[in-house]
Amino acid sequence: MAAMDDYVSESDSDYTSYWRDWFISSRGNEYFCEIDEDYLTDRFNLTGLNTEVQYYQYALDLITDVFDLDCDDEMRETIEKSARHLYGLVHARYVVTTRGLAKMLEKYKKCDFGKCPRVMCNSHPLLPMGLSDVPNLKAVKLYCARCEDVYNPKSTRHSSIDGAYFGTSFHNILFQVYPALVPAKSAERYVPRVFGFKVHAAAALVRWQNKERNDMRRRLRKMEVDSGFKDGEDELEDDEEDEEAEEGGGPARLEYRGAPGGFITGPAHDGQMGGVA
Ligand SMILES: [Zn+2]
Repeated sequence: MAAMDDYVSESDSDYTSYWRDWFISSRGNEYFCEIDEDYLTDRFNLTGLNTEVQYYQYALDLITDVFDLDCDDEMRETIEKSARHLYGLVHARYVVTTRGLAKMLEKYKKCDFGKCPRVMCNSHPLLPMGLSDVPNLKAVKLYCARCEDVYNPKSTRHSSIDGAYFGTSFHNILFQVYPALVPAKSAERYVPRVFGFKVHAAAALVRWQNKERNDMRRRLRKMEVDSGFKDGEDELEDDEEDEEAEEGGGPARLEYRGAPGGFITGPAHDGQMGGVA
């Protein structure tokens, strides 16, 4: 981690980039990190992009602050647009390099990409990602490593960004390079209730799913494979709940435990509506 911080400060201090500074600090471009000068001037990194971008050389000159062409506003606007597209395409390549990953990691830690909207994820930070590596197909999405699901950006400024500027691999590579950042999987989930009583069909499904998951975790542990769940974390919760019910523990427990047909199962642990009959 120390080496990574050195990288960032080193590249930030010894060069001032006007165009890139302006670009990444523009409203709506918060998901982008600044691509190093070294990376942009190494033609090997840009292989194949000359056919993807109109006025490629002018666009590249603009990005690297050596643009020197007398042209009208319309032409300037076209080149500007090309430069933004080129920056995005290079960005997708840059963010999977060591330095790019380190920069995006800093942004991830600062929650620059937003937080997971799922309540049970407790505001886990998100990462930008593409559903395609081909430009102009899909807009950028946000990935939550905790629930392993993808979300649309909240703001329309972000939802119009091309997903190919981040690519389909970046967010997965980040966790391969920094495995310590993989969050523990959470077994915590929403349980539908009606006046404090678990809804029968959903409760039966949840019980079945929890049993399957616990069986899987036991099998994995026997084979000494890491399941990604924190060991012991609410694993036996549901079993305990069932045992408790069998012993008749707890007041007014009416849990329905038989064949399908009941509408509602027993009152929740924390249900204050225990008197409903
Ligand atoms: Zn989440």
